Amino acid sequence: MSTHPASDSGAIPGTPRVEYGGLAALPRLVSGVRRSGVLVVTGEGKRYVERLGDALPGVQLTVFRGARRHVPEEVVERAREALDACAAGTVVSVGGGSATGLGKALRLERDFFFIAVPTTYAASELTDLYGVTTQGAKRTGRDPRVIPDVALYDVELTLDMPLRLSVTSLLNALAHPLGALSTQSLDEAAEEAALEAASTVYRAVTALTRQPRDVAARAEALRGTVLSGRVLRNCPVGVHHRVAHALGGRFDLDHASLHALLLPHSLLWLQAQAPDVAEKIRARLALDLPARIEAFLSLAATSLHELGVTPGDLREFLEGRPDLPRSLVEAAYGSVLR
Ligand code: NAD
Repeated sequence: MSTHPASDSGAIPGTPRVEYGGLAALPRLVSGVRRSGVLVVTGEGKRYVERLGDALPGVQLTVFRGARRHVPEEVVERAREALDACAAGTVVSVGGGSATGLGKALRLERDFFFIAVPTTYAASELTDLYGVTTQGAKRTGRDPRVIPDVALYDVELTLDMPLRLSVTSLLNALAHPLGALSTQSLDEAAEEAALEAASTVYRAVTALTRQPRDVAARAEALRGTVLSGRVLRNCPVGVHHRVAHALGGRFDLDHASLHALLLPHSLLWLQAQAPDVAEKIRARLALDLPARIEAFLSLAATSLHELGVTPGDLREFLEGRPDLPRSLVEAAYGSVLR
């Protein structure tokens, strides 16, 4: 059903091999691995595990179902115990960025063949960025060991994604190139890659709001995710990502919703700080992006207040993080703090 070529393997050093062949490619990918056995890491739902079992008949599968957003350290410890107990040679993460992130955290300490099967547009599977949260503090870093060997995309796993998650997750993907551009440190080629990623993701989110089950639009969304993830892999992150990770780790917030609601404020902040960069984005997309994103947000939470952050907690957070732009965070809080 995919409208992609089967793979674009080996295109870029330091990134995973990208395959669009879906779960049907798993037997081939797993058969070449030296040690047998597969540990599947995923979230609580059973949604994908049965499909994996069907795709890998006769393969010894152990399932760890505890993946959680922001990768809590205690979850990593339990998953590591499961991996050691089953001595699997392959780990397949299946789910959103939380499942991918757990596979990445395991890779920091164990050696295995790592196949990431992402089911959202977070794009973590393309990057060397990892994060682990201990008692509300999220430690993030870059390490080439965490990069999956294969990023395996299956458009069918995304067809039933609720519209709200589709929009917020794609706005999360859109934040990657926009954040990179905001650093004003990109060379010409990197800037072009970021603008191309941003326009591809923007087209996809627009198409999906009209036809959420359209296979071509879903495939375009995955293609935009890959372009955005490569930008995140190859470029520095900007203020937007620093704010999102600090807030997400501190208040355990839904990652995609948080990125989505922050994005118009980050863009307005960018317009004030670097109007020439904001103008390049506006010219490439031929629209007023902050206003368009606010329109998409009618499908999602629009403020930190709506995500459940209290004014007192936010003030305390801001006092502890003087490095973050206060005006941006306060604007994203919503009317109460304004
Ligand atoms: P998530 O993985 O927490 O998933 C959110 C929810 O959506 C879960 O309940 C999940 O079960 C559900 N879900 C996933 N796929 C679905 C589908 N196709 N249909 C219906 N429901 C589906 O959220 P996320 O936004 O994908 O990832 C967030 C995590 O990823 C955070 O921990 C974040 O820090 C991390 N992340 C890391 C990077 C990186 O480069 N390291 C990049 C982006 C995000």
